[in-house]
Amino acid sequence: MLKNILKSSDCAACRICCVFDNYDIWESPVLDNELKDRVSKRFPELSFVKKGDGWLFRMTGSEDGLFYCPALDHSTGCILGEDKPFDCKIWPYRIMELGGKKVISIASICPTMYAKPLSELCEELDKNGLAEKIFAFAKTHPYIIKPYEKGYPILMVKDD
Ligand code: SF4
Repeated sequence: MLKNILKSSDCAACRICCVFDNYDIWESPVLDNELKDRVSKRFPELSFVKKGDGWLFRMTGSEDGLFYCPALDHSTGCILGEDKPFDCKIWPYRIMELGGKKVISIASICPTMYAKPLSELCEELDKNGLAEKIFAFAKTHPYIIKPYEKGYPILMVKDD
């Protein structure tokens, strides 16, 4: 969804969004029942834990103290293809709730996107209805909305 602004070669060289530590494990992607069932059929070796109305990948910590998404192939990247969770398709954009309003923010941990001017990040949200797609998905899949996290610059606020 972010092909216009984020080159796949940059993602391939980084993959920081597929690895979590104790502080940002809450960022791990959430799947709905349908997607979880589809992914389970394709990759029976993956397992899940329930979180609210959604599912998280079961991750175990590595010796380096990090949690690697089990869908990450260290040579070729994410194995899920079109079944990549919505959270991952829009990352580092995040949808959060602050003071009862939905906001779209940006995760500062993405080195490529965070190096861009905020104006460019906001323009991208306007282009091709990206912000509307994010807000619409969050309306039908509210479990992807995270509580606002301090330090995440807010790019857009939904008024209603
Ligand atoms: S599902 Fe794929 S893109 Fe998302 S965190 Fe896991 S490996 Fe990365």
